[in-house]
Amino acid sequence: MSDDKGVSTPVYETELVTGIDVFEMAAVGTIVTDRTGCLRRVNPAFARLLGRDRDDLVGKSFSSLTSPDDVAVSLGVMQDLLNRTTDVAQFEKRYLRPDGSIVWAELHIRSIIDADGAVLEFLVQVIDITDRKLAEEAVERLHWQLEEAQSIAGLGSFEMDLNGAIRSSDELCRIFGRPTLEDVAGLMEVVHPDDRDTVDASVRACLEDHKPADLTHRLLRGEADGRWVQVRADWVVGDDGRDALVGTVLDITEKKLSEEALEYQAFHDTLTGLANRALFLDRVNYALKQRDAAPVAVLFLDLDDFKTVNDSLGHLAGDQLLVAIAQRLASVARVGDTVARFGGDEFAFLVEFGVMPQTVESIARRIEEVLRSPVLLGDSEVVVSASIGVATGQPLHDTAAVVLRNADLAMHLAKRNGKGRFELFHPGMEDESLKRFAITADLRHALDNGEFEVFYQPIVDSHDATPVGAEALVRWHHPRRGLVNPIDFIDVAESTGLIVPLGDWVLNEACRQAEAWRHAGVVDDGFYISVNLSARQLGEPSLVESVDRALRDSGLRPGALVLEVTESSLMLDFDAGLARLQALKALGLRIGLDDYGTGYSSLNRLRVLPVDIIKIDKSFIDQLGVDREGAALVKSVIDVTRALGLHSIAEGVELQSQRAILNEMKCDHIQGYLFAEPTPPADATRTLRRLGVHGSHLAKRRHQQKGTGRSSIDGPVTT
Ligand code: C2E
Ligand code: MG
Ligand code: MG
Repeated sequence: MSDDKGVSTPVYETELVTGIDVFEMAAVGTIVTDRTGCLRRVNPAFARLLGRDRDDLVGKSFSSLTSPDDVAVSLGVMQDLLNRTTDVAQFEKRYLRPDGSIVWAELHIRSIIDADGAVLEFLVQVIDITDRKLAEEAVERLHWQLEEAQSIAGLGSFEMDLNGAIRSSDELCRIFGRPTLEDVAGLMEVVHPDDRDTVDASVRACLEDHKPADLTHRLLRGEADGRWVQVRADWVVGDDGRDALVGTVLDITEKKLSEEALEYQAFHDTLTGLANRALFLDRVNYALKQRDAAPVAVLFLDLDDFKTVNDSLGHLAGDQLLVAIAQRLASVARVGDTVARFGGDEFAFLVEFGVMPQTVESIARRIEEVLRSPVLLGDSEVVVSASIGVATGQPLHDTAAVVLRNADLAMHLAKRNGKGRFELFHPGMEDESLKRFAITADLRHALDNGEFEVFYQPIVDSHDATPVGAEALVRWHHPRRGLVNPIDFIDVAESTGLIVPLGDWVLNEACRQAEAWRHAGVVDDGFYISVNLSARQLGEPSLVESVDRALRDSGLRPGALVLEVTESSLMLDFDAGLARLQALKALGLRIGLDDYGTGYSSLNRLRVLPVDIIKIDKSFIDQLGVDREGAALVKSVIDVTRALGLHSIAEGVELQSQRAILNEMKCDHIQGYLFAEPTPPADATRTLRRLGVHGSHLAKRRHQQKGTGRSSIDGPVTT
């Protein structure tokens, strides 16, 4: 509504009074209606406007001429006038033409009042504003299309003057997470505090040096801050002739997030979320480039016998185990350390600050400690250990590649020295790895050159310490290196395949020696010879035939032969291994489970394995008398072994105190330096004699042989 000081007051009272000519001649449509809005008088201009004859129009109600959409508004205005709330009114409405087209009109109404103050009629001036309206609609449509396009593109636009006042598109408000930007004092208010300096510098450069700005920054939004935008702005001269900035703001959050995700993937291990090799190397390199920095240490870890878990419990369990290990390793890390998975079961740990030898050792011990508690995978409890190699690097002196190679060498030494331990790298280790290389070459000829010898270590009854058996342990008399222990060549022989003929040779030697001892009465009929079988041998289809031949060639009673396998060698191909053990047992010999406790099997698994003897690993025996839990574990293994009708042998017994505890626990047999070390056959014969003959009936036999001179068992199977 407008008041009578409106833009144009259309009807002048003088004209009303002076007659009809002005009304008739007016270029603007003019009408007089009664109180109900019924048309009384109509001028030609109005008739032209509506495309009708004047006669047609007189007597018509205004509502019949008005577009149905605007009838209600018109009635409302009329009501106000009738109530005399006002005597003049102005509003816009649409008329309908007979051809169906619409005319937009601006109406200026004045009430004609009688002497009593009642409304008599209305004088209405009707201005055609159709062209303006169409133009406005077109602009609005364009504006709407622009907004729509901006919303689809996630692109907002703005214009900002030097005072920071902003004119913004709807999309910009949406991006900034605010209903309007009118209350924003300046663009800075929506910029993330960490990015304000950069944004401020760009805006300044744009306004002062007229340099276009192109920058990305984060937003500070009410409901969700941290969204990313790309802003492009340029300097313009505003409507008022003053400097201004116009620009666009693109919401690039999704793009930024996927870029971040890609970058994360490129530098992290997907399974465990730890850093990957690339990131780890990068960190080591960076740390080594820091001038005045402290030395760095790299701990390289390889899980022991991880393949066994994968093969026996499945890859899913294997993955779960890796994730659990990753978490445990991460729990050891301090701020600044990096833990990485290199793939498979290899992990690496970087200690960057304050590296002293004792710090590194304590970290290695801490890692061993966190790995020690069992991991529950489904129904199975798995105990893991890792072989850890540790190497340090001097900033500005060593490269990441060298430090990692050194840690790797040390890790391999830890593996060879019995796994589940750590080794610190020292320069001599490079020689050792060369030595290993040489061993591989030399080993090829060793068997043909007769460089191997079988040593024997007696196994005794835990009560009277009389020998019940002996283990055959191979030795290598290297032409230059001297006596080489199996730890230094068995795995090389295993990986080259030489273990198959070598193992066969040991088996034949051992069977013949045992039979010679029995024959000579050095041992009783119940005496057994124990021979180690490697994983590779167990995988050989010809194994059963070879063993059968060794027994027949030597004449040894099958019951006097024990073949030792480890849990891990069995796990390589569990079903095939199991079938082969059954076939071996069918020959009449017995199977011993070696190094029990170092693998992954539970006590439960003992029930399904076709084994007769459990050899409890030295690492458990070492705990006797030291650690209450260790003792409890040994006792439970012995108890279960007995309950299953199997024999128990304790390995690596060195102390009387250990023997006493084992005796109390009713362990059947004992093997260890306390009684005898592994020695060549002649020495072993003497040792067996010294230890006496097990079982009284044998005393007789020994007695019978007395006086027959030197028996045939004193030499290396010489008869
Ligand atoms: P193993 O089968 O567990 O043999 C027992 C190892 O413990 C032997 O080491 C033995 O000398 C050592 N040992 C026994 N009692 C004590 C003790 O009281 N204290 C200490 N510290 N050690 C003790 P050895 O002879 O060096 O053999 C190491 C491993 O090499 C054997 O472990 C076995 O796995 C393998 N090995 C030896 N000979 C053969 C073979 O002919 N074939 C295969 N496949 N493996 C063999
Ligand atoms: Mg053994
Ligand atoms: Mg053993």
